[in-house]
Amino acid sequence: MTGEMLSQFVGKHFVAGEFVSGEGELVAVENPATTDPIGEIRIATPAEIDRAVSAARAAFPAWADAPAKKRADALHRLGNAIAADADAMATVMTLEQGKPVNEARGEILKLAEACHFYAEEAVRVHGEIVPNDTTDSESHVVREPIGVVGAITPWNYPAELIGWKLCGALAAGCTIIIKPAELTPFTALAIAAKVKEAGIPDGVVNVLTGSGSTVGQALVEHPDVDKIAFTGSSSVGLHIQRTCPRIKRLSLELGGNCPMIVTAKADLAAAIKGAARRSFRNNGQICIAINRIYVARPVYDEFVTGLASAADALTVANGIDKPDADVGAMASAEPLDKTIDHLKDALEKGARLVAGGARPEGEQFARGHFFRPTVVAECDHTMKVMTEETFGPLVGVMPFDSLDEAVRLSNDTPYGLASYLYTTDASEIRYVSRKLDYGNVAVNNVDAGVMNAPYGGRKQSGVGYEHGREGMLEYFNFKHIRIRLDQPEGL
Ligand code: NAD
Repeated sequence: MTGEMLSQFVGKHFVAGEFVSGEGELVAVENPATTDPIGEIRIATPAEIDRAVSAARAAFPAWADAPAKKRADALHRLGNAIAADADAMATVMTLEQGKPVNEARGEILKLAEACHFYAEEAVRVHGEIVPNDTTDSESHVVREPIGVVGAITPWNYPAELIGWKLCGALAAGCTIIIKPAELTPFTALAIAAKVKEAGIPDGVVNVLTGSGSTVGQALVEHPDVDKIAFTGSSSVGLHIQRTCPRIKRLSLELGGNCPMIVTAKADLAAAIKGAARRSFRNNGQICIAINRIYVARPVYDEFVTGLASAADALTVANGIDKPDADVGAMASAEPLDKTIDHLKDALEKGARLVAGGARPEGEQFARGHFFRPTVVAECDHTMKVMTEETFGPLVGVMPFDSLDEAVRLSNDTPYGLASYLYTTDASEIRYVSRKLDYGNVAVNNVDAGVMNAPYGGRKQSGVGYEHGREGMLEYFNFKHIRIRLDQPEGL
């Protein structure tokens, strides 16, 4: 399968319902499995950014005032259009991001699911009537869309991380300008094509390509952008918070350093399976990837041996050639270099390599950004693998002697995104899940985010929520209307 769909997006932005040729500087986009160029994008110029913001502003009043049912119907149409073209969209994603086509298709279908979920939420936007201290007045609390949203997204989940913002914002009645990551712009433009196909009014959705420091920063600073919805690294999130020159709503979904605790009462086979999936899926390039695993000493050796075998069994391949591979290429040289740095650091400090540790062998891996799923044991908190976000196919394991020690080690981080616990003991589940200082705790499973429950981090992992009803509430202002009500005459 080739990327026919992709070629139509080269050098384009999507503004006011049209694909327009950019006039800014050209930037090449590469296939990370081969490092061959697949196309170019243009960095949006200040005039193009202004045009997109004006289009979103002009479209806002009619979209905000439309009946909720109309917005819901539009989101259902968008979900249907995306699902109908999932194969072509998945190929675009694999070509620019590296994940195998089957996994990319799964992500596209989850984007479609998000459209349908928020279509249904759009018609359930309720207010409240709050009693006052006196009987002659009452308070109405109503929800109103914030306005124009700037969405800035990373490259690891190029469809879903746009989708949660796009769908929440549109359901609420906001309009949006999306600035995707430089590595994965074409998936965003493929979504824009589906927006057009779904007949969503011009200007409601706009996509600008370009670098974060210019186009992303311009949206952050733009006086006519009312809210920034950002997913990315904690350092860029902090930079956005610091440099936003005016009061503006911000939601920041940032980095993680996610622990997994495996107690002596765990179903060990299930824990090993879960660890292998959530440490290595998408090459560990997931904000909720398991970075570090704490295992009760009596089951430690068995767990390490099992995880090493599970990691060794994973297939690594060019995700276009082998759509059902477990992992494809990493998205770029940067996360690969960081993985190698964290591995080297761990081994120098005494960790034991039990799986992976090198690029896969074979001519087909010579040019792309490939690395074998890697497990290091006997780790401790002097090592980067246990204390920093690797964002690559590397996980560290260390033993613990008491539940409190496991909880203390798990919480010993500035991050608070997701954590994992495996135990079959109900009292351990209750105790540990309440002690973990994380926005998400997954127990006996590794899917910390599901569409209909709120998903968000705490501490340096961010502010705000995506998924669930809460993910839509991020796009509303609350208005309090206090009404004094006289008694009818003649009583
Ligand atoms: P990044 O922070 O480098 O970039 C994210 C986006 O921000 C890109 O579109 C980039 O162009 C833009 N950007 C960069 N500088 C900017 C600036 N000065 N102003 C405005 N925008 C700017 O992150 P990345 O390397 O693309 O993604 C990986 C990171 O994202 C990891 O830390 C990961 O944990 C995090 N992430 C978090 C979540 C979550 O839900 N919490 C989900 C996925 C990824």
